[in-house]
Amino acid sequence: MAIIGRPNVGKSTLLNRFLGEKIAIVSPKPETTRDRLLGILTLRNAQILFLDTPGIYRGPRTLLAKHQVQAARQAIEEANVLLLMTAAQSGILEEDRQVIRLLSKSKGQSPSGTIPVFLAINKVDRVEKKRVLPQIEEVGRLFPFKEIFPLSATKGTNVDSLLETLCASLPEGPALYPPDQVTDRSTRSQVQELIREKTLLFTHEEIPHSIAVIIEEWRPGKKTGTYIRATLYVERESQKGILIGTQGGLLKRIGQAARPEIQELVEGSVFLDLWVKVAENWRKDPRRLREFGYGGNLPIYASSS
Ligand code: GDP
Ligand code: MG
Repeated sequence: MAIIGRPNVGKSTLLNRFLGEKIAIVSPKPETTRDRLLGILTLRNAQILFLDTPGIYRGPRTLLAKHQVQAARQAIEEANVLLLMTAAQSGILEEDRQVIRLLSKSKGQSPSGTIPVFLAINKVDRVEKKRVLPQIEEVGRLFPFKEIFPLSATKGTNVDSLLETLCASLPEGPALYPPDQVTDRSTRSQVQELIREKTLLFTHEEIPHSIAVIIEEWRPGKKTGTYIRATLYVERESQKGILIGTQGGLLKRIGQAARPEIQELVEGSVFLDLWVKVAENWRKDPRRLREFGYGGNLPIYASSS
């Protein structure tokens, strides 16, 4: 099943909540998720594959933006259950309507015909109940959702009953992944994402969108811990100075913020060595995009034969 919706409504937060583990990075900046990401939940008698997607939006026309929308589109077409997400405190926006239109268009194209589509109105912790009810009526007129769940992904409100409903509506099939696997991403790619998440927290305006993180070296050491060297790519020389900060201050803060979570992930101490380089306008450069891992589309259910 896939989770779709405009940027920043809380899709990745919900995925982490379902799994009880942080596999998707989350930030207050839109477009945090750039690629589709598989979360694997193995219950006593079921295995659910959750596909987190980049938000569907009409952003600047970069190749990266195109890749993000394509990743979300493909998820809609290949999933057997869909969960659309909106945010209660902003109401139903034109961007949400866009996603709903995309849904209406592609509904017939799914291999299984019509698939169940659920709606979660997230962030209800931010608004009064009486503001949610009109939204339920409004979206109900736009699309025949199978069921609508007012939700708080951060507080956990209604998350269990949503999960139960999703479970019940998924078709039966064999488990595709070993029970202890929670994502299809490598540890290396998770570390890249964690570093990117922390840079998103400390940067503003166009810089968050301009950053790509690449692990250049990964050297395990029994006594010294794991040495990880990563490069943070920005698009312009001027951004490089900002990201490094006065006397390397900002880069240091990013490293300090990322290291504890990376250590948890690799289960040991880590020496994190961060560098900043310029890759001119990489979001428009097909070669760079591939190099940074946003090139081709990943097969969704990779290990299914
Ligand atoms: P995505 O772009 O849809 O994946 O959204 P994220 O999961 O990255 O979340 C975007 C922002 O919304 C983050 O700052 C989250 O902490 C916040 N957020 C997510 N769910 C909730 C919620 O239920 N309530 C509140 N108040 N904030 C939330
Ligand atoms: Mg996300």
